[in-house]
Amino acid sequence: MVDLNGQYQSIKEQINSSISNILETSAFINGPEVHTFQKELEDYLGVKHVIPCANGTDALQIAMMGLGLRPGDEVITADFTFAATVEVIVLLQLTPVLVDVEEDTFNIDISAVEKAITPKTKAIVPVHLFGQCANMDAIMALAKKHDLYVIEDNAQAIGADYTDSEGKKQKAGTIGHVGSTSFFPSKNLGCYGDGGAIFTNDDALAHTIRGIVNHGMYERYHHDVVGVNSRLDSIQAAVLRAKLPLLDEYCDARRKAAIKYTKAFEGQDNIVVPVTVNTCGMASSICKCHVFHQYTLRITNGKRDALVEHLNDNQIPCGVYYPIPLHKQKAYADERYNEVDFPMTNKLVKEVISLPMHTELDDEQIAHITNAIIAFVNR
Ligand SMILES: *Cc1c(COP(=O)(O)O)cnc(C)c1O
Repeated sequence: MVDLNGQYQSIKEQINSSISNILETSAFINGPEVHTFQKELEDYLGVKHVIPCANGTDALQIAMMGLGLRPGDEVITADFTFAATVEVIVLLQLTPVLVDVEEDTFNIDISAVEKAITPKTKAIVPVHLFGQCANMDAIMALAKKHDLYVIEDNAQAIGADYTDSEGKKQKAGTIGHVGSTSFFPSKNLGCYGDGGAIFTNDDALAHTIRGIVNHGMYERYHHDVVGVNSRLDSIQAAVLRAKLPLLDEYCDARRKAAIKYTKAFEGQDNIVVPVTVNTCGMASSICKCHVFHQYTLRITNGKRDALVEHLNDNQIPCGVYYPIPLHKQKAYADERYNEVDFPMTNKLVKEVISLPMHTELDDEQIAHITNAIIAFVNR
């Protein structure tokens, strides 16, 4: 699904030399690489504060702790996403409120969010699934109207742009009150282990969060709040520093591969290609509204599972993200949920299939993959 080695070979010298420098200086924790990376990412994103942490799941949890969400507060998020989002809501004893997603973008459905808002609702967590932003205009408007926080789970869309209805362009993850991301190796900006970060433009919230990631300490050995230990280590920061200047190039390579996939599937009745919501008005070849963390098809003739098996048999990698709606997972099922409220998630889990997507895909590989899929689906 991803080719991490191909990418490593192209930046090997820089990564090896900065890692060996860290080994020589023993600055493993909170070293200069971490601080420099933080500044570089703030510049890239155009956000006032980046707070690095240990992984994307921690980033979400810490963002919620920083906002002071209390047990019993309701947090609305998407039913069709990775479990990390709902996991931390439950761990903090907040009440998750899962809602359906849109059929074409796979992102949280605004009318479902609106319907789910109660006097106990405190936050909305849109997940920018597969590399493009949820409808942030509508989400921010709802949040303003009902006085809610917006926490963007940006683990899959780092580098994506979002242009709002007034024409203001912002980076994914920097639009809500706080955003989170993951640097898991296969993410668009991945390190060589675990890593994550929290973004915010709010000075007071940034200060609170900097304490929370460090055991609730604002002054050494004075623990003002209950915190956690969640750090990005220097070696991972060095890897990320080598890759950040290439992130736009990586996103371009993914987009080019996506455009080729889509072209190859043109005219296929049973294969629905992913939709890009173009908020910037630029040509699809340069538009950065979608950074294709995943390239996800819908197979609409009931052959998805058979296709997965066929591709597995033919050594063509593929993935199903995600096979089970969160509201049906044992850990998160709840009698509050009603099947009629999840028509899209219930359908998408049976239709979606994600294809290999990374920065090193070539034309031959794309032709091999798309030919195999088209032949099988029409069989
Ligand atoms: C990867 C991912 C996370 C969690 O990130 P980790 O670094 O693995 O903890 C959270 N949310 C989404 C949507 C993700 O894809």
